[in-house]
Amino acid sequence: MSTEPAVHVRDLHKHYGPKRAVDGLDLTVDQGEIFAVLGPNGAGKTTTIEILEGYRHRDRGEVTVLGQDPQHAGREWRSRVGIVLQSANDQAELTVDELVRHFALYYSASRDPQEVIAAVGLTDKARTRTRQLSGGQRRRLDVALGIVGRPELLFLDEPTTGFDPEARRSFWDLISGLRDEGTTILLTTHYLEEAEHLADRCAVVRDGRVVALDSPAALGDRAARQAVVRWTQDGLVRQEATDHPTALVAALAAQQPSGEVPGLEVVRPSLEDVYLSLIGEPVTNEPDLVLALDGVSTDHHPSAEALR
Ligand code: ATP
Repeated sequence: MSTEPAVHVRDLHKHYGPKRAVDGLDLTVDQGEIFAVLGPNGAGKTTTIEILEGYRHRDRGEVTVLGQDPQHAGREWRSRVGIVLQSANDQAELTVDELVRHFALYYSASRDPQEVIAAVGLTDKARTRTRQLSGGQRRRLDVALGIVGRPELLFLDEPTTGFDPEARRSFWDLISGLRDEGTTILLTTHYLEEAEHLADRCAVVRDGRVVALDSPAALGDRAARQAVVRWTQDGLVRQEATDHPTALVAALAAQQPSGEVPGLEVVRPSLEDVYLSLIGEPVTNEPDLVLALDGVSTDHHPSAEALR
């Protein structure tokens, strides 16, 4: 396997009339990784993915996908790429089994259709016409069609929209399994839990460009952000944001006769907190009431003094 990236994008631009849907976007996806593209509605994710899939022409910028420019790539390239669109609803009269078998014929090294149907949890529905599937089942079928050709690179545009929690978990197992087999996966999602669970790296896209790119654990300096220590005192929940949670907890514990701090919690910013701050939304679970026990340092949070 060569070490060139599976996807390489530099300074990508796409306008729809006056609307700059993609506005100088840079991205590199390494071979074998799961890469998540996050961003609010209208950020330019689908436009970008469709350009990478070869379905949409760019205005300018460099794009290489599996070593080729998707705008000029041919049939052989297309057979190496798997695509799961946001929603596909053709072939409604075919059964699940017929449709997956039909798609498998397009590829020289396709997976066994029955195994694929089982992998997406649709064995019970194999003889059901696709128009009779629920939204979540239809989505699983879309995924089956995307992977039956054993693609090297799989594009998943909001793959688990409409899934129930259990189906989402089994889908995640399926995607992790594909990565273990060496498939590169580029997915867009609005579920931050999904990105956190699956992605090796994620990019946050806002206004058509990437505003942060890192592993979910490190995105937006997440690990270095302040922790929030919460505890209960006199029947009230108290909390303080701090760079030194260990010292604060030790100070609180020293004040308790039993050494146990009631209701103690130490919370780091979630991926959602970091994401919302990156896209410019107010973070809802930042501490809005910050109090400190007498004798506990409040140096790192001036508002605690003000509230005493
Ligand atoms: P979502 O999360 O809602 O799927 P997205 O990040 O995928 O959003 P895009 O679908 O790429 O966003 O859209 C980016 C911007 O371009 C939006 O403002 C959208 O209204 C606009 N847009 C997308 N497709 C077209 C089109 N065919 N013609 C005109 N404008 C479009």
